[in-house]
Amino acid sequence: MSATRKPLSSHRRIVIKIGSALLVDQQTGLKTAWLDAICADIAALKARDIDVLVVSSGAIALGRTVLKLPSGALKLEESQAAAAVGQIALARAWSESLSSDSIVAGQILLTLGDTEERRRYLNARATINQLLRIGAIPIINENDTVATSEIRYGDNDRLAARVATMTGADLLVLLSDIDGLYTAPPHLDPDARFLDSIAAITPEIEAMAGGAASELSRGGMRTKIDAGKIATSAGCAMIIASGKPDHPLRAIEQGTRSSWFAPSATPVTARKTWIAGHLQPAGELVVDRGAVTALGSGKSLLPAGVVSVAGNFHRGDTLAIFDADGREIARGLASYDAEEARQIAGRKSAEIESILGYPGRAAMVHRDDMVMAAATGRKKADLDSREEAAHA
Ligand code: GLU
Repeated sequence: MSATRKPLSSHRRIVIKIGSALLVDQQTGLKTAWLDAICADIAALKARDIDVLVVSSGAIALGRTVLKLPSGALKLEESQAAAAVGQIALARAWSESLSSDSIVAGQILLTLGDTEERRRYLNARATINQLLRIGAIPIINENDTVATSEIRYGDNDRLAARVATMTGADLLVLLSDIDGLYTAPPHLDPDARFLDSIAAITPEIEAMAGGAASELSRGGMRTKIDAGKIATSAGCAMIIASGKPDHPLRAIEQGTRSSWFAPSATPVTARKTWIAGHLQPAGELVVDRGAVTALGSGKSLLPAGVVSVAGNFHRGDTLAIFDADGREIARGLASYDAEEARQIAGRKSAEIESILGYPGRAAMVHRDDMVMAAATGRKKADLDSREEAAHA
């Protein structure tokens, strides 16, 4: 489904990915004036009640300049050491620059498992959401000091797309030294045409993305298109724009040239479709009438409303939720492991800490992680018999 491009300021939550070359000059180090200018842009978005998350590259590039490493490829342990030195300077620069706009920054370093494994995904998401709730700007990067090739994203384009889908952002902006997508590499082909609006990432669009990456950043157009696939399929629009001018976000708002990729659905629908359809429930909950009413009006499922717990599931697994008559009323992700869920079922949220020995989460299934199943009309008996068939 295509859509019309919306102005930047009409989005609710924007993830901005910043390429290394924008932030770091190999000779002179951090580009402070540029950083101050984009922080002012971010402050302007925030003043309009837009949540902003930053995925900032530049740790390795900055570490190289601090350590005065020669140009050329780095060995793994060299780039990890450069990242360790560079990340601390990078985070400090963001924090200082944002503080002059009276904004607090919080650093999040992710590794691949933090977005791919559901339990860690829920943890990372909860932290990022809390930062946003308190008005801070998450400054996110890959934890390059511990990531090795098998367990890394390797480029911040795809990392930023994962962050966008994880946080239900409605726009991802990729800022680098490339101003958008062309039908062919513009420096090689004089007939290359600029594409300002892409309704869907078709095989033809993919073929237009060359492989090129600059020395400072790992991502080329290839990883940007991969990021586009991740983001748009989860209902998040994406913009590729040049970050070279000062105030690049303001420049986008003022209509500077950029490529816009239409979202395929709304984020909530896409995420909830994932919960509803793509996973086999790992467990089942039966809830009381009060909980059925609460869920029907969009509330979270609290332990107090849970009558019984079946299955051997872990936090983050999908649960099917039934009313007392065995009708499936919802599906959602468990906030607790099965054993803990059994212990707190039927109990008040305030009692969780004394039962489990730690404060835990108030909801057994949070409303953001739940989709109502009214339309499916599935019955508990159907599920049970399907399961029996599967084990036969
Ligand atoms: N995480 C890397 C860094 O901070 C950048 C990866 C990328 O350029 O995409 O240096």
